[in-house]
Amino acid sequence: MTSIQSVDSTHDPKLRSWVDSANDTGCDFPIQNLPFGTFLRQPRPDRRVLPAIGVAIGDSILDLRMARLIDTDDMNELIAATPEERVALRRAISEGLAEGSDKQAAWQGALVRQDAVTMQLPCRIGDYTDFYTGIHHATTVGKLFRPDQPLMPNYKWVPIGYHGRASSIGVSGQRFKRPQGQTKAPDAAEPGFGPSKRLDYELELGFVIGRGNVLGEPIAIGEAESHLFGVTLLNDWSARDIQAWEYQPLGPFLAKNFASTLSPWIVTMEALAPFRAAFERAAGEPQPLPYLDGAANREAGALDITLEVWLQTEKMRADGQPAVRLSRGNSAQAAYWTAAQLVAHHTVNGCNLQPGDLLGSGTLSGPKPDEAGSLLELTLGGKNPISLPNGERRTFLEDGDTLSLRGFCERAGAVRIGLGEVSGTVVG
Ligand code: MN
Repeated sequence: MTSIQSVDSTHDPKLRSWVDSANDTGCDFPIQNLPFGTFLRQPRPDRRVLPAIGVAIGDSILDLRMARLIDTDDMNELIAATPEERVALRRAISEGLAEGSDKQAAWQGALVRQDAVTMQLPCRIGDYTDFYTGIHHATTVGKLFRPDQPLMPNYKWVPIGYHGRASSIGVSGQRFKRPQGQTKAPDAAEPGFGPSKRLDYELELGFVIGRGNVLGEPIAIGEAESHLFGVTLLNDWSARDIQAWEYQPLGPFLAKNFASTLSPWIVTMEALAPFRAAFERAAGEPQPLPYLDGAANREAGALDITLEVWLQTEKMRADGQPAVRLSRGNSAQAAYWTAAQLVAHHTVNGCNLQPGDLLGSGTLSGPKPDEAGSLLELTLGGKNPISLPNGERRTFLEDGDTLSLRGFCERAGAVRIGLGEVSGTVVG
């Protein structure tokens, strides 16, 4: 295995930071995490405000250029680093932020509070590919769309994906208009046109590509993780009524490309090293073809991340009520393919990936009904509305709804780390 998957001194559970808030129990950003993001300071009349690269630590951000750790403000340049450079940078950040470090005095001035900045998309996303690795999602949704054939015959052989659209990807806090489009009820003779009535979310992980590959040169599965910079939370908003009418034969189009929302912090593959899980196929399931198989992938290809969905309606917000959790699941139980398999498959024909490309995991629903990563599943295609604590009901999203995804990793012998949150709001 390459060094980015190794547990080292930066994961030591005893490690504490001189940034006090990073030592709080349950904090998403302890010193063992160190996720990367791009932020803007509040504008000041005397100064131009440019984006800067930082690492989250507790409730604050370390400005990496001000700490003299990097000399770029371009995340796409930074994430194209070699695994050795990445590991060295992580170690330098960890040592400097650790309790007792002689960097404390110098770095104090490079700290900025997270609530005093505006987060941007972490990097420029050149291309976005959305996969379909959630087998429980694929099966449940497949039953709704095609009762006779829920899973297509290729599902267990090919990591299914489609080319998405990068221009409409926004950072957490995104507000977007309810999409309009063509829809057709099964019993209607002709389609109609209007606002989507079945607007949904999809709980996904977003894998951010670091180093790219040259056109024509595939990335072997054993090398795949050295091309992955890290993981974000991704909400792939979906208009189910538009999707149902348009998706055959070429897949989703306008049902998906009106908005997708990404969390601001990229949790690196290095940070995730203590939270890996074996990739296994149950007896009787097809084994992956050789280009999708490898010892490291079998041993620890999966990611053990707890994923949650939270909803706050406009009424809840007006009444001062907090968001309510709709579901909780785990990425390792949901995904039929690993991130390394997605990279190997994407490039096996010679397709070139570039720094900042985004690969969506597909909706990560667990095997149980309350682990579903979309309303389509939670409400059984809109037939079973869910009741909220204040008496409101939902089949699909309504105007003013704010939907948030959260993720975190917890394991005995390791300090809990979080992926933070991605939220977005539907406006009419
Ligand atoms: Mn999706």
